[in-house]
Amino acid sequence: MRISLLFGKTLRDDPADAEIASHRLMVRAGLINQIVSGVYSYLPLAWRSVRKIENIIREEMDAAGAQELRLPALQPQDIWDKSGRNQVFGEDMFRLSDRRDRPLVIAPTHEEALTNLVAANVSSYRDLPITLYQIQTKFRDEPRPRAGLIRVREFDMKDAYSFDDSEHRLDASYTAMREAYKRIYRRCGVSAIMVEADSGAIGGKDSQEFMALANAGEDTIIFCESCKYAANVEIAKVSIPADKEDAPNDLKEVSTPGVKTIEDLTRFFNIPARKTLKAVFYWTDGEVVVATIRGDLEVNMTKLSNALEASDIRLATPDEIASAGLVAGSASPVGLDGIRKIADYSIEFGTNFVVGANVEGRHLQNTNYPRDFEVDKITDIALAEEGLACEQCHSPLETRRGIEVGHIFKLGTRYSELLGAYFSDADDKQRPITMGCYGIGVGRLLAAAIEQNHDENGIIFPVSIAPYQVWLTALNVEKEEVAEISNQLYETLTQNGVDVLYDDRPESAGVKFKDADLIGLPIRIVVSTRNIKQGIVEIKLRSRNDVEPTPINEVVARIKELALT
Ligand SMILES: [Zn+2]
Repeated sequence: MRISLLFGKTLRDDPADAEIASHRLMVRAGLINQIVSGVYSYLPLAWRSVRKIENIIREEMDAAGAQELRLPALQPQDIWDKSGRNQVFGEDMFRLSDRRDRPLVIAPTHEEALTNLVAANVSSYRDLPITLYQIQTKFRDEPRPRAGLIRVREFDMKDAYSFDDSEHRLDASYTAMREAYKRIYRRCGVSAIMVEADSGAIGGKDSQEFMALANAGEDTIIFCESCKYAANVEIAKVSIPADKEDAPNDLKEVSTPGVKTIEDLTRFFNIPARKTLKAVFYWTDGEVVVATIRGDLEVNMTKLSNALEASDIRLATPDEIASAGLVAGSASPVGLDGIRKIADYSIEFGTNFVVGANVEGRHLQNTNYPRDFEVDKITDIALAEEGLACEQCHSPLETRRGIEVGHIFKLGTRYSELLGAYFSDADDKQRPITMGCYGIGVGRLLAAAIEQNHDENGIIFPVSIAPYQVWLTALNVEKEEVAEISNQLYETLTQNGVDVLYDDRPESAGVKFKDADLIGLPIRIVVSTRNIKQGIVEIKLRSRNDVEPTPINEVVARIKELALT
């Protein structure tokens, strides 16, 4: 492609709303353009990149035995009612109705549609196992679209679904997909680690995410260098050290004027935070819930929400706290009736805690569980943080930032039971199909590749997903000898299967090099009068500073070596 004919233009300045490098660079390089919040057009350069990523995904899915198909984006709402997810997705799902007032949705994902299709086409264990996939546009009405292609409302996704006759066979399908995913990231030039993850709205038991490590990532990963445990902070486990077990002393109420926070308590009583319990108030499903945890730890909202099976959860407002009769700053589960109480396991790791007395300005010393209070549920709701101990090996945990570039789930039989996808086994008994599902956001993967591969001047595309592998620059293109050699290289390289973007514009060297760095194709060739006199052209990799002077008759062989292997 000659740049003089290419649709799209580069910008000198950063867009005002861009917070992260991939967003900034993709807009400046003329790759993407936003039409409304979280909805983007892909210009020809970006689209070529996307197509290359899709091809890598297709090759790996096909190699893993998956079959490609295509499901509709426009779906009847009743299959979402059947699965219960019309409610689960809530405002995140786009809904509409047709001319006969039949309720429809624009699908955010495809478990329902595919399970429905499989139910009609699979009847016997002989039809299984089967894994199906598609690369298709999904729609989610995200509350806060942000960061360019990282969080959008319309996006292309490769989603695959496996159907097996048993948990055991699901393990094999899941492993095949997991290994295919690792190959996909490697081939796309993205370094991704696998972490334990929350199942969220998709549901199911086991789930793992692939995270592209990047400072701009919106996910926090808890990581143990020593045993390599890695988990999304949403579900990361942590080892809570038991405090020295003193014998329980008698409960004692103390006047504590002005003492409100855990920090106040540690000062007032001259004790460490782990000798206190804190009560945190949440609002969920129309009521206040009190969560109690040891004072040195924080509550993890995702774990709490899962433990309460809450559809929606947030911190309670001061008004909600007051109208529930709770005293902020002096609250505890002790003597608290008529309010739902949940607690973290850490309340069992210690004795003689200082807690609120549920009276303004008063606290209790020597509080012990379960001697002095009860809770409705005790479970793990602790937030894993840097410096706390790894649950597996007790080494200190670290945190990393990551972009979620893939998510795989073992769904089990939940969807097949709800949507009626059964098969008859070898004994002619009807059993629900065991499912798994596997997703990769294509645009987000491109953005993640750019987050990991750029510098202050622009993108540094990995060869495998670059829109073109070579940026061929003709300096002083009006000179006949320059144009002749450049045209010849352009044609020969293209005939040899190399994707070349040919900068044939009568622009200054400065403008051309700036654009070459910004768009960031991996290999640059410079043809100039000075070089031609010596019988050479310059080859330079975008990722390196050194220039390779190459005899003109060796250029094609050298470029094939760099671009096609
Ligand atoms: Zn560890």
